[in-house]
Amino acid sequence: MKHILLLATGGTIASQPTSEGLAPAGGADYLSERLEFLRRDYDLTVRSILELDSSNIQPEEWQLIARSVWAARGDYDGIVISHGTDTMAYTASMLTYMLLGIELPVVLTGSQLPLDHPLSDGTDNLRAAFAMAASGRRGVFVAFDRKILLGCRAVKTHTMDFAAFESVNHPPVGRVSAAGLSIDDAAIPAVEGPCVLRDKLCREVFLLKLTPGLDPRIFDMLLERRYRGLLIEAFGAGGLHFIRRNLVEELRRVTQAGMCVVVSSQCLYESSDFRLYQTGQKVLEQGAIEARDMTTEAAITKLMWALGQTDSVDEVRRLFSQSLAGEMAK
Ligand code: ASP
Repeated sequence: MKHILLLATGGTIASQPTSEGLAPAGGADYLSERLEFLRRDYDLTVRSILELDSSNIQPEEWQLIARSVWAARGDYDGIVISHGTDTMAYTASMLTYMLLGIELPVVLTGSQLPLDHPLSDGTDNLRAAFAMAASGRRGVFVAFDRKILLGCRAVKTHTMDFAAFESVNHPPVGRVSAAGLSIDDAAIPAVEGPCVLRDKLCREVFLLKLTPGLDPRIFDMLLERRYRGLLIEAFGAGGLHFIRRNLVEELRRVTQAGMCVVVSSQCLYESSDFRLYQTGQKVLEQGAIEARDMTTEAAITKLMWALGQTDSVDEVRRLFSQSLAGEMAK
């Protein structure tokens, strides 16, 4: 039997109704008692490391989760992390970078309804996560609604539907059907080298969603607050306005002050191409780095992580020029 570790962090899957709405309940025992259905097929260890709604999961928790995986990785065939769905895509992306080259499957899962609910999707999601965790495939994945997604390509797209996640700009790496779990190995990028825990990150990173007529003074605030990184979700294939409110000029100012600026598209699907329009080319001329087809979750966490590894904007540019674990098309 494969030895699988379940690291529990909270989320709906382990929540119960309270007077203030659903909130995570109990620790390892609470989940452990509800996982008898897995013990027939897996040698299961349950450890509760957090009891949080994932809206409360922040960089400190990412580090704790990464360190817990790192410390346990030699003792198990695979690790499942139960996690709230709301920020699961951010955690999955950050873990991808912090644990680059991890030698075993690390699979995040959760549910839209608590395990105790008679209609819960939690048992199916756990079954898929455990099957993936026992598969021997290396990397960080999300298991949800009978699909396995690359962690750094997952996006939560639905608040209520059981198919809550999509794999954006990348095919799912696995599906559960009557044929069992089929894995598309071609969709799992090969990551070279031994895994080294790289859990430093930079919290002074800001995500700015561009809206028509955005007040350029927002950039003064970012400089005053000493933000080191900025991800701008721009329009379409890539463009910022430069008439009347000249954001290109602001970009020049912040990049000259040493801020690392990454630009992406507000469109969920396909890639940005800031070379296409004048409104985009002017952005690239200021030294902005393109996120291309990365999800917002993968891009913002990559920027936080990259600035935790280096102070050099050129080095961040180099890290963004390549796909580290499938987060960007080659
Ligand atoms: N608010 C919950 C969380 O993210 C939602 C869920 O788990 O589905 O923790």
